[in-house]
Amino acid sequence: MDRVEFRDPRRRNNPTTVAQLAELAPNIDFALYFRGTGAPPFSQLNLLNPQYVRDISAALARVPLASWKAYMKWRALDEMASLLTGRFELEQFRFNGEILSGQKEMRPRWMRCSDAVAGQPGADALGEVVGKIFMQRQFGSDAKARLDQLITALQQSLRQRLTEVDWMTTETRDRALAKLQAMRRKIGGPDTWRDFSAVMIRRDDYAGNSIRIAANDRQRQFQWIGQQVDRSIWLMTPQTVNAYYAPSLNEITFPAGILQPPVFDSTMDDAVNFGAAGAMIGHEITHGFDDSGRRFDASGNLMNWWMPRDEDAFRERAACVASQYGGYSSLPGAKLNGNLTLGENVADNGGVRIAYYALMELLARKGPPASIDSFTPEQRFFISYAQVWCENASDQDVRRRAQEDVHSPGRWRANGVLQNMPEFRKAFGCKEGVPMAPATACRVW
Ligand SMILES: [Zn+2]
Repeated sequence: MDRVEFRDPRRRNNPTTVAQLAELAPNIDFALYFRGTGAPPFSQLNLLNPQYVRDISAALARVPLASWKAYMKWRALDEMASLLTGRFELEQFRFNGEILSGQKEMRPRWMRCSDAVAGQPGADALGEVVGKIFMQRQFGSDAKARLDQLITALQQSLRQRLTEVDWMTTETRDRALAKLQAMRRKIGGPDTWRDFSAVMIRRDDYAGNSIRIAANDRQRQFQWIGQQVDRSIWLMTPQTVNAYYAPSLNEITFPAGILQPPVFDSTMDDAVNFGAAGAMIGHEITHGFDDSGRRFDASGNLMNWWMPRDEDAFRERAACVASQYGGYSSLPGAKLNGNLTLGENVADNGGVRIAYYALMELLARKGPPASIDSFTPEQRFFISYAQVWCENASDQDVRRRAQEDVHSPGRWRANGVLQNMPEFRKAFGCKEGVPMAPATACRVW
């Protein structure tokens, strides 16, 4: 599957029995492999990409053993390079950093060290160990309450938009509202912390530490096999400056880290914070209703709850967004793929709109606010949103991302959304026909 096909959750949903898997890949002894991993017995699994398994099995018979050995050796070295002596790390940087990404120098050692322990939960990270300390130092109960209020304001704003859109039938609208209502939220960090007591950490064995942490993580995941879905799991660490929507759990998660500049700044006024943190929260909530997220129901099951008419109406609106962004280039010759970035663009557009209306609602309650630095609250909202997407990237990286990334580059995350918004035109007095106020504007939510 290419990246666009792979974005469709229906194509990734391929429940397969272990017996069927053996037929699909006759050259791979999966039973032996599963036993070797130490996983408990199971009879069924999901293949994200069945064709891949078929092709690998065929390639095993076709490609000489020596080539497989070289490939496996390279995979092992590439995986471990950053954990070995400097020469390995430098060689990896020359390829991944300099050649593929156009980086001029390696990131400073302290950043790499900090990433190594505080990265995403998973194989090579002690992220929750650091996260626990981060939470204790940086995230009081007032911060949690503040984030909770912001999310409530954004959810309320989307509820209002879902109620108002003129292209949905009552049936679909009611199900959409029920899905929004059922969306769970996680704030700050996990209630119970992962147990790393079984991991032996040695001062003189960096690579060994990493292998033992990975083994510990694998054991943890094996324990999920055959069990009820654990809805308490966090897919980001508390210190992460990011957020996510998990469609199969119908859940939004906002780590403590997002309550930091440039996303959230307690010294700034509401307009600035709604333009940044508000738009980010709105983005995640809207993911539940983008071209992929909309295929999951209120409990997170892949199930169609749309009336055919509404599906058509949604597709038509989404196609407008796909062709809009497909017309952008991040560099000459590096066109964006409107279908690859569709879900993120729908979420960006919905997110900014619901953040904007949540702000308007708040300002209406608080009374008319003053201008600051001669900018109106509306202008500060949009400037703040755009500033989140300031970035500095090499040409190689920009070109690579245009091919691979499901997100549009920062410039179009800002301009693409704002070109669609009459509220932006009004705030800055743009006349129709200027680049930021084109004649056609797209809108899904
Ligand atoms: Zn997103």
